[in-house]
Amino acid sequence: MADERFRVLARKWRPATFSEVVGQEHVCRSLTNAIRLGRIHHAFLFSGPRGVGKTTVARILAKALNCVDGPTATPCLSCLSCKSIADGSSLDVMEIDGASNNNVDQVRDLRETLGYATAQSRYRVIIIDEVHMLSKAAFNALLKSLEEPPPHVVFIFATTEATKVIPTVQSRCQRYDFRRLSTRDIRDQLTMICREEKVDVEPAGIDLIARYADGAMRDAQSLLDQVIAATEGHVTASEVADLIGAVERTVFFDLVDAIARRDVSATISAVADTVFRGRSLAQFLSGLMSHLRCLLACAANARNALSDFEPEELERLSAQARKFSDRDILRMLSLAADAESLLEKSAVPQVRVELALLKMVYMEKSVELADLVGRLDTLLTGPSAAPPDPVARGPAPREAARARTETIFTPSAAPAKGMAADLPSTDNAPPAGRRSEEDRPGTPGLGVLTARWPDIVESVKSASAAVPWFHQVRPTGIDGDTVILEVDGAFFAERVSRMEESLLGAIRAHFPAVRRISVRAVDKSGRNSDVSETVRRGGSLIQGVVEEEPVIGKLIESLGLELIE
Ligand SMILES: [Zn+2]
Repeated sequence: MADERFRVLARKWRPATFSEVVGQEHVCRSLTNAIRLGRIHHAFLFSGPRGVGKTTVARILAKALNCVDGPTATPCLSCLSCKSIADGSSLDVMEIDGASNNNVDQVRDLRETLGYATAQSRYRVIIIDEVHMLSKAAFNALLKSLEEPPPHVVFIFATTEATKVIPTVQSRCQRYDFRRLSTRDIRDQLTMICREEKVDVEPAGIDLIARYADGAMRDAQSLLDQVIAATEGHVTASEVADLIGAVERTVFFDLVDAIARRDVSATISAVADTVFRGRSLAQFLSGLMSHLRCLLACAANARNALSDFEPEELERLSAQARKFSDRDILRMLSLAADAESLLEKSAVPQVRVELALLKMVYMEKSVELADLVGRLDTLLTGPSAAPPDPVARGPAPREAARARTETIFTPSAAPAKGMAADLPSTDNAPPAGRRSEEDRPGTPGLGVLTARWPDIVESVKSASAAVPWFHQVRPTGIDGDTVILEVDGAFFAERVSRMEESLLGAIRAHFPAVRRISVRAVDKSGRNSDVSETVRRGGSLIQGVVEEEPVIGKLIESLGLELIE
């Protein structure tokens, strides 16, 4: 009975004509055209989420077909047929709930009645809701009627799971896909209803209902019914939240602000408050995740994903997004998702949620590998050009995070494996300075290159900041227009790769025919590997570098960094 009372608004404001249907304009337009052109199919399949208007449109279609003025796209709503369909008393429009009439006998009975002429209307319309719930035998019985449809019989099937409707039925139907309604559509409709019903609900409260209904107009109207039944006069958003058990958006704004300023007390209070107000922790977490998702969308400037936000909310959202790097928002999202997946198994779920939030509060900000390398550079070259502290307490501003985001491994044209071994090493290179080679146009010989190498190194050093380890770089081979360079360890090899442009420039000043350089790392055991191979081999870029250069491992340890991919 209580359920009946809550359906009042949904029934009262149920659209009576195609033009009143909200959010399914594409379906209504096609149906209207089909009726106008007299191309009425004998079977329709309406698929889409629950509560978006499938049976409502089915009833409007029945009216359109059977109205005394019809078939017409604009039924009169006042003739006997229109009225009897509206109040459910029409003898020629049958509504069957697939979920409760799923035995084959009932479908057989239905088939028998189809043989008779209509009682008073043009068409006999059979509406089967949740048609996918019919048993296979019932489906097969139905199929016979669909294969040889009696004249003047129209089937309208509605389903939330079109994929479960057997293909032979699907193929005989004209299919219409109903959309989930946008929060904006629902909000506008609820605002209109409140105005007409003279109910004073705060816009933020209406917005809360609209979002909580998750695309289903029927649910939204039933929630509004609950609110109207339980309140008087002006209804605030907070009252609405209490009544329908939702968590307001401001709660998540405040919570994430608290996380940003590392306010443990405010963070824990948010959870306690949720529990105190009787909200479920699962709902709280899913609300938080949806808020973090919006922050990500905002950071990525994906404004169409944020159409549900009012301008001032959007402003607050983008201000909040600027307090975190994308990577940190992702980490928070994953912490929340982890907590959600463990919630049911947890004996003390509240602690589980608090733990996840505290991890967010104490989370060190993400450091790009490039920062780490920059710090190592500082250690190696002295404190003169110290980069800004990347692990400073407090959230890193987005701009800074962006500036630091770069791949540290510049891809260079890597020679085929084993190539360097086939070429003469510096030890048995031909004597330096053979004029004949140098005079010849084209790429230099290794000997000439080796002889000129100290000059090249000097010009690179003077062109860029002093690089104390640069003398370790040595040419070991030439492959076509590519000079192959070797250096000890993947770390330095990577650093050399990053200097590719200036290095290549310096080489080309002497040997213009050289087009590219390839840098290979030689590890302690004398094994060759090119830089990209280090990455591939280790699977993890950071692990690979740490393996090659223990000093980086020490650096990571001394800075107390956590490695994340
Ligand atoms: Zn009518």
